Amino acid sequence: MKTKIKNISKDTIKNLFLKNISPTPNEYHKEFCAVAKEYKLDIKECKQFKELVSRLNKQEQEEIKEKNISTFEELIPVLLNRVATKNLKTLTSLFKESITPSISIGLDEKIAKFSIKIGNSPALLFEEEIQKEMQEFITDRFEADKKIVREKTAEIAKLVTLMGQHLSEAIASSGESGTEVSNIKDEIKSIDLKENGIKELTNLQSKLINAAMSIENEMTQVGEKLSSGKSKVERLEAKIKHLEEELDKSRKQNLKDHLTGVLTRRAYEYEAKKIENNFNRNSTQYAIVFIDIDHFKAINDTYGHAGGDMILSTFGKILSKYTRDLDVVGRYGGEEFIVLIHFNLKRELLKYLKRIKNIVNENNFVFGKNKIKITFSAGVTIRNDHTSYESALQKSDMLLYNAKESGRNKIVLEDNTII
Ligand code: GH3
Ligand code: MG
Ligand code: MG
Repeated sequence: MKTKIKNISKDTIKNLFLKNISPTPNEYHKEFCAVAKEYKLDIKECKQFKELVSRLNKQEQEEIKEKNISTFEELIPVLLNRVATKNLKTLTSLFKESITPSISIGLDEKIAKFSIKIGNSPALLFEEEIQKEMQEFITDRFEADKKIVREKTAEIAKLVTLMGQHLSEAIASSGESGTEVSNIKDEIKSIDLKENGIKELTNLQSKLINAAMSIENEMTQVGEKLSSGKSKVERLEAKIKHLEEELDKSRKQNLKDHLTGVLTRRAYEYEAKKIENNFNRNSTQYAIVFIDIDHFKAINDTYGHAGGDMILSTFGKILSKYTRDLDVVGRYGGEEFIVLIHFNLKRELLKYLKRIKNIVNENNFVFGKNKIKITFSAGVTIRNDHTSYESALQKSDMLLYNAKESGRNKIVLEDNTII
């Protein structure tokens, strides 16, 4: 081995001499390793270089191959490249990105200045002072982001307050259902925004979602209440309508005379006015029939007041039964009745009058064991034959008087027709 190395040494010197290369340590090393290869001898130092190159990155290995670098000395500039300006520029831009606030702006100028400084002298990156400055940038970035979060939280808080106000208005205008909405409002009010940060935002968000869900729920309930309220209102409306009808009925009943069931004098006057208005507007023809029961005093005297009352009651019922609804029957006084009859042809009027007279004449009025016969007298005028209702009424009263005078149990008309 020793001899072999001696021979390699000799050949190395000889080769360098032949190649006219100065035997500097580097040149010697290169040639020595080449000769050792020829001698097929493994020299540790020759292998060490290869081994180091294999541990470098791909780019560097390519550079070594390209420049035919075979010594440690030649390798130094390649390795120095590792901290070269070009590489540092990439590094600083990465750093710049890492310290730029993600949602905040405003640090830009400071960061730009700092990266130019590092870009110009990359070695500064390794200085303690610069590293401290980098640390400050990182802290600043964190604070800037936090500030933005705080501001955003405050904006959301404003929104929540506004929502609260809207809900207050809703409560004021929605009566009963307001209680539930009020709870939602309190819930939103209770959101504590003193502590700021991402966690608070998340909590706030979920609380808002819950509140929104409650509102949604409440809206549905209000909707249901409204529709059930609607049917309640409809039921009440129907009830009111029914009560109105009842009231109307009872009002009409009040307008009726208790004993006879026909209209009281006052109610009659009211209806008479309506019929008269209709006559003036539409020329609706009608007749006035003034009736007085004959010798009624005598009935009272014979059968007593109760007997008289029974006669009055039955007489009133007969008049009501045989008179149409659109016509009017009233009790004018004690045993005096008045009927307003609408008609088209005079014979219709006569037919009515005959019918009433026959029924009263042909029937007995039963009072206890007594069967009582009664008659009545009447005066009849046709409204169209007079200038006013009053005049026609007065004339019918006169005709009634005539009927009485001429023997009673008679219906006297203005044209001298007597039934
Ligand atoms: P005339 O044929 O002329 O009409 O004779 P009349 O007896 O019927 O007439 P008069 O006016 O003299 O008497 C009417 C009587 O009717 C007098 C009164 O006591 C009676 N009377 C009035 N109202 C009532 C009542 O509500 N009930 C009873 N039972 N009698 C009454
Ligand atoms: Mg009378
Ligand atoms: Mg009478």
